[in-house]
Amino acid sequence: MVSSAAKQQFQKDTQAYGEMNDDPSVSTKKKKAPKVAWETLREKLREHLGETAFRRWIEPVVVEVEEDERGATLAMAVPTRFMRDWIEAHYGDIVRTLWLSLVEKGSVQFSVVSPLLKPDVSLKSSIKGNSFPSAVRLSQASPSAADEAPLDPRFTFDNFVVGKPNELAYAAACRVADTETPTFNPLFLYGGSGLGKTHLMHAIAWHIRQNFPNRRVIYMSAEKFMYQFVRALRYKDTVSFKDQFRSVDVLMIDDVQFIGGKDTTQEEFFHTFNALVDRNRQVIVSADKSPQDLDRVEERLRSRLGWGLVADLHPANYELRLGILGAKAEKHGCPIPDKVIEFLAHKIASNVRELEGALNRIVAHAQLVGRTISVEMAQEVLADVLRTSERRITIDEIQKKVAEHYNIRIADMHSARRARAVARPRQIAMYLAKQLTPRSLPEIGRKFGGRDHTTVIHAVRKIEELSAYDPAFREDVDLLKRLLQG
Ligand code: ADP
Ligand code: MG
Repeated sequence: MVSSAAKQQFQKDTQAYGEMNDDPSVSTKKKKAPKVAWETLREKLREHLGETAFRRWIEPVVVEVEEDERGATLAMAVPTRFMRDWIEAHYGDIVRTLWLSLVEKGSVQFSVVSPLLKPDVSLKSSIKGNSFPSAVRLSQASPSAADEAPLDPRFTFDNFVVGKPNELAYAAACRVADTETPTFNPLFLYGGSGLGKTHLMHAIAWHIRQNFPNRRVIYMSAEKFMYQFVRALRYKDTVSFKDQFRSVDVLMIDDVQFIGGKDTTQEEFFHTFNALVDRNRQVIVSADKSPQDLDRVEERLRSRLGWGLVADLHPANYELRLGILGAKAEKHGCPIPDKVIEFLAHKIASNVRELEGALNRIVAHAQLVGRTISVEMAQEVLADVLRTSERRITIDEIQKKVAEHYNIRIADMHSARRARAVARPRQIAMYLAKQLTPRSLPEIGRKFGGRDHTTVIHAVRKIEELSAYDPAFREDVDLLKRLLQG
């Protein structure tokens, strides 16, 4: 299906073409103006070939119509030699016959243009970098597709270090990148910040671009999706907005948790999502939480997001951290002693982004100040980072300490028992988890026997209330807090 925006683009382009050729001296007698002829031809081809073959073979073609005394030449350029040979062999005759039935005089030429997609250009510039200024690029969904985010050239599969914590997500990403018919739809990637979700999505886009250049891919953050949608609403242009997304082969939306609470955007995303999945197009979504845990997202969307494969990225373990640091150190081309790599892998456990940042700082420091890299030097350069990452308190620790303090079993932190003697300490532990860890309310709820986030909110309020009225109680809670903070 060609979007109405693509049609508009087509009209704009062919109009420009018409203006250029308004010189009466070159006008030839013909049955149809070439631009109209091509439009007719395209529709006839769609009928003849069927939607699937049309999309696969004709839509990616870049078409240019030239007119001179020899008639109307239909120049059809495709990205690969294989495609050109295929189209010529299978559809050459029909295209020629139809073309000649539509114009007075003319010919059809097939050629190969170097793929528009080179690995070192962003999606944005590659779409704009159309080598035919007045041509119609049918595979370009719409002009606004150029609003997609550019891809980071470092985020490739080659640069992704695989280990136990991310192997499922990695394998799933490779699978969707390599297969044209979705085996699981959607692919839902989730995990904490800095664990490689965006990296994997970009890697999928790069891979498809290199290996299946005629598959249309849109990669976009949920935030951008919302922004574009709101803009489309404002300019009453939702039709081309819809078309832009609904005519792609692969849609990737990053950080989908962002649409929580944005009701109209959710609604639109839900419909786009369904339209694509129904047509067997691949949808890939990332978030910082699992589908069930997405805050303020409608139930039907949450459940739909969980239909395909849900793959989580776990925080990198020591082994994976070593692997990542080793790979990145090599890229820096600056020798880093194993001892320093081990030191960093040991000390910075939070996420890969911080690990990378630490390494960059050490290398920059070494290069700028000309110091040799050593463990002492790393300790000094990273003093601030190391302090914060050393003092990370976990919910498990909190539960243990609180249970000890009130002399209850740790199991009661997870149990459904409502007796005050266990319920109150459990509430205190929830409160401390909220205060002392960066965990979200649903995450905390889950850690306490799969309780709802509203239960956690209730616990936090209750403890605040009691602390305000009862100094002894407040002291008790403060004591626990200090104990935990060490
Ligand atoms: P997220 O989107 O999950 O917040 P990113 O994909 O932006 O995280 O990753 C943060 C940084 O860590 C990026 O620079 C990325 O290249 C790097 N990174 C994450 N995981 C890996 C990995 N397994 N191998 C190599 N680099 C990684
Ligand atoms: Mg990201």
